[in-house]
Amino acid sequence: MESVSLFAPASIANISCGFDVLGLCLDNVGDLMHLEKSNKPGFRITEIKGQDLPLETEKNVAGVAAQALLKAYKEPVGFELKIDKRIKAGSGIGSSAASAAGAVVGINKLLGEPFSPLELISFAMEGERLACGSAHADNVAPVILGGFTLVRSLEPLDVIPLHSPLELAATVIHPEIEVKTADARAVLHNKIPLKKAINQWANVGALVSGLYQEDYDLISRSLVDEIVEPARAMLIPGFDQLKENATQAGALGCGISGSGPSVFALSKGMTNAHLVAKSMAEVYDKIGVPYEIHICPINPNGVQFIEPKNK
Ligand code: ADP
Repeated sequence: MESVSLFAPASIANISCGFDVLGLCLDNVGDLMHLEKSNKPGFRITEIKGQDLPLETEKNVAGVAAQALLKAYKEPVGFELKIDKRIKAGSGIGSSAASAAGAVVGINKLLGEPFSPLELISFAMEGERLACGSAHADNVAPVILGGFTLVRSLEPLDVIPLHSPLELAATVIHPEIEVKTADARAVLHNKIPLKKAINQWANVGALVSGLYQEDYDLISRSLVDEIVEPARAMLIPGFDQLKENATQAGALGCGISGSGPSVFALSKGMTNAHLVAKSMAEVYDKIGVPYEIHICPINPNGVQFIEPKNK
């Protein structure tokens, strides 16, 4: 095999009570990538369409993730990458994770799959380190494994794929404003009252149980964040109203996607996810915030190889 084309999906991290640990893979929003073997050892990005991002290997998350993989592979091999960037960088739906994960999954395929999914996650995390300063796994894990994932520990890396109920659907609204990751971090408190911590881990446990039992009421009761969301909500225009409308329209729960500004809602079934989207759009139509919306089921597959179109 000399080349592969793939779809690298967007993802939602920081799912309500699961700040920094729970993530899920989205279905119909993602980047397209084309990787080719090259006789010249090393990794090069030869084209990025759709967005103004650096081609230099060491400045692009795809390049940094690829370098981590090539370093572990040890033998001299060469690859060239073209990216059709469809997820807006900084939108809060794992734009950097899609590039980092897509690059390493694609190279691994062309090398005959010498690396395990967990190793691929660890390489992709190096891309995340470039994007936001810390090598977190809560976006790259669901993009590589598909579905819902839980990052139990970073050192040693321990990622648990979770069951994802078939009818679960996501609505994501992206207000076209910038929320700097640094600002989203700065508003967080370093100390948590024990009572809130207890509620939070009770909800994480209950949410995981709800996913396995396909108990949508339990999922709904558990999609609560008492720690991060109250601090970050003020960074997102109309957040409380978005949540109110989504809940009224039947969403199981609603929260901040990643570090924002996107806001996600989970629903039972695509019909409800569309109703929820409409109710959230009304909030931004009213206050005049430009936005885009994605509505999709949870993607059980993660990165997917596709037929090459225009290389
Ligand atoms: P998101 O909020 O959608 O998860 P991130 O904040 O994770 O996006 O990543 C965006 C940052 O990573 C931006 O600073 C962007 O310039 C940088 N970056 C470098 N390479 C890429 C890439 N291939 N795709 C997306 N972002 C990249």
